[in-house]
Amino acid sequence: MDGFVVLKFGGTSVATLAGWQVIASAIQARLDEGLRPVVVCSALAGVTDLLTTLLPAAARGQADPVLESIAARHAALATQMGLDFDAAAAMADLSRWAEGVALIGAFPEALEARVLAQGELMATRLGARWLTERGVTTTFIDAGDVLTSVPQPGRAGTLAAQVDGDASPALQQQFQQLEGAVLTQGFIARDPDGRRVVLGRGGSDTSAALFAARLGARRCEIWTDVPGIYTTNPRDVPDARLLTHLSYDEAQELATAGAKVLHPRCLAPVRRHGIPLHVRCTHRPQLTGTEVGALEPGPSRVKAIAARRGVTLISMDTLGMWQQVGFLADVFSVFAKHGVSVDLVSTSESNVTASFDRAAGEVDAPTLAALIDDLGARCTAKVIRGCAAVSLVGQGIRAIMHRLGPALALFEDRRIHLICQAASDLNLTFVVDADDADRLVRDLHKLLFSQANTTPDLGPTWRETFEDGPASASVDEAPPWWHARRAELLAVGPTPAYVYDAASIDDAAQRLLGLTHVDRVFYAIKAND
Ligand code: ADP
Ligand code: ASP
Ligand code: MG
Repeated sequence: MDGFVVLKFGGTSVATLAGWQVIASAIQARLDEGLRPVVVCSALAGVTDLLTTLLPAAARGQADPVLESIAARHAALATQMGLDFDAAAAMADLSRWAEGVALIGAFPEALEARVLAQGELMATRLGARWLTERGVTTTFIDAGDVLTSVPQPGRAGTLAAQVDGDASPALQQQFQQLEGAVLTQGFIARDPDGRRVVLGRGGSDTSAALFAARLGARRCEIWTDVPGIYTTNPRDVPDARLLTHLSYDEAQELATAGAKVLHPRCLAPVRRHGIPLHVRCTHRPQLTGTEVGALEPGPSRVKAIAARRGVTLISMDTLGMWQQVGFLADVFSVFAKHGVSVDLVSTSESNVTASFDRAAGEVDAPTLAALIDDLGARCTAKVIRGCAAVSLVGQGIRAIMHRLGPALALFEDRRIHLICQAASDLNLTFVVDADDADRLVRDLHKLLFSQANTTPDLGPTWRETFEDGPASASVDEAPPWWHARRAELLAVGPTPAYVYDAASIDDAAQRLLGLTHVDRVFYAIKAND
């Protein structure tokens, strides 16, 4: 075979039989191209969220419902796949660890990483069995056996580990000798001492990029639940338009700014080796999606808007900064001492405001308290929680500032905590109260992308692509109720509005009440956009 191609499938892609059918066809198509596919999978949708709650629940003696939910999700997939699922065997490690934590009432970070890794491992074990039964020759590889993290100064790195993206002739040789497609996990690695570590939430994209870099792959394909990268999150703004091509820099800026479709650390490894990265949709495999690569800078324009929630700011007031050499160095050395990475910064003579870089891991409450305490010796430090960062991403943003006038009028009655224009000229960010972010993104998008735009790299809107309703992830599912009641829904006004279908609620409640192995059922309804 004439080279490698890496394909990464996210949580919703691996959670259904229909998703695995797309994976099997994609493997065959890549083999037909003469390439060896390396398939990198996430945990089933929702499983990593459940796993993050397992150990805290176990410490309270309440692990059982979490374990049951995790088992039920895998059992449901196994049933669709026609495979047996031995829950006791598959869940043995998790159950044993939860029992241990219940006895001690506490757990170390190293155990958290081992628990989280189980999501990806369980998904790929099921996938490997199904592919093999279907006659697709597949070799299962534990990603921890081939990806080793590098130590990071000042932090343990167990839950936000980093792996270097150097080309690895040894790995290339090892994989060349394997049979058929390689099936492995995203998100997980081991440290140099052989202990499990994970790459941070959403890190499977980064695993895929690292495999592509280390293998010198022809391309890296990120298969997810949207047909590419859009001008903004299409689930929030259905008029968002597909971006058919993006440069590495633009994609990096967008990912850092909060567009969850790509993990912020996944661009560097592919950019370094000039490997094209494609974003494709598992529910619409025929669409070509977005290609990220080395592009010549085009004319100045805003290409996309991203929002990042859960932003915490630290505002530092001081008069000492005025004409004082080394104040910023001194303040940031305190951040470094506590292992806190800074993202956005704005400064004036009397105030410095900074946000945390969440890609480097969450800042826990004791660390934050110690940081504020230490900063107290140098300035008056205040924490501002509950913010969101709204970023305009594009090329030559500086040159189009004057056109943003009407957009800035939207900020008239809103509080802006921080404005930051990246020196790279690719990004302009406003940090506002989280409650204002959604509306701000919608209004900005309308203003900047509403005119008929004939730029060749702009594809159809999300609404146009899904005019006939979003494709169902599973071939076995009946069409959702909103297909049948489309006309009534369109007549509902004014929007936004919450709309319920009573028959579906009754039906779902009846199915829950029909479960025999639980004593009591609680039912919550979540909005579906
Ligand atoms: P996966 O589980 O496949 O990794 P993610 O949920 O991590 O998928 O990322 C896909 C999601 O990213 C989409 O469902 C979409 O809501 C969100 N998203 C945010 N911003 C964008 C954007 N600009 N373009 C496309 N998707 C976006
Ligand atoms: N399963 C992990 C998460 O949900 C990694 C990933 O899906 O990218 O964060
Ligand atoms: Mg993701």
